[in-house]
Amino acid sequence: MTRAGPTALAGRRAFVTGGGRGIGAAIVLELLSQGAEVVFADIALDKATAAVTASAAIGIALDVSDVDAVAASVSSHGPFDILVNNAGRDQHAFFVDTKPTEWAELLAVNLGSVLACTHAVLPAMQAAKFGRIINIASEAGRIGSRGGSVYSAAKGGVIAFTKSIAREAARYGVTANVVTPGPIRTPLLEAAVLAGGDRLLRAMQDSTLLRRLGEPEEVAGLVAFLASDSAGYITAETIGVSGGMGC
Ligand code: NAD
Repeated sequence: MTRAGPTALAGRRAFVTGGGRGIGAAIVLELLSQGAEVVFADIALDKATAAVTASAAIGIALDVSDVDAVAASVSSHGPFDILVNNAGRDQHAFFVDTKPTEWAELLAVNLGSVLACTHAVLPAMQAAKFGRIINIASEAGRIGSRGGSVYSAAKGGVIAFTKSIAREAARYGVTANVVTPGPIRTPLLEAAVLAGGDRLLRAMQDSTLLRRLGEPEEVAGLVAFLASDSAGYITAETIGVSGGMGC
């Protein structure tokens, strides 16, 4: 068994969604640093961070909620041993103030994309008798979120979907797990703080036992571990990287 280090993921090919910035960018860089070959998809590839753009990862411009485009991209860039469904988008509004068109968009980005990418990648994993699927949900998917009801519904769906895939794919040597971040310092969170001000930032920090925001690298380390051979007996789990939020 290969332990974590520069060769822990050598020979593995990974597909990371939303890899241009934030948590996804940290995941791309961590998987690369452990020896994986990485392809990442981002709807805003032109805004990818300098570190990701300068890295050895292959970036593709793709809306991962577009089922046909995902299938076409995976068939030209795959097969993959590791799938990290990370792309997502939040919304801050009380449910009574939201519109059905917004629900459809949030569900498509946060849940539909996970279905689309898993559907495209899983057959080759099953044929190879090896696969690691790691889905980035949110503590909001476990405990709910005031002002984030549709997002929470989608993330809760990701958790239930992952457990189902873990059941269906176990016999083929494929594991599927969920990582649920708490408040992590990324552009997505910064946008929320801009809208909610310092009070919201303090409330986010105080919602954790550790009384601080997490860093994208703290999520990426767990994702790389779950992708490794060392995590071969871990499946259908939902693991928080949230400073103890919702414990
Ligand atoms: P972010 O907005 O900083 O980065 C998300 C990336 O995904 C961006 O590069 C964006 O362009 C890309 N993306 C968005 N929609 C896409 C689409 N349809 N197709 C392809 N790419 C798309 O966000 P983040 O904070 O890094 O969040 C990453 C994941 O972690 C999301 O699923 C989010 O819900 C989850 N999460 C984040 C936090 C947090 O506090 N930051 C907390 C809980 C869960």
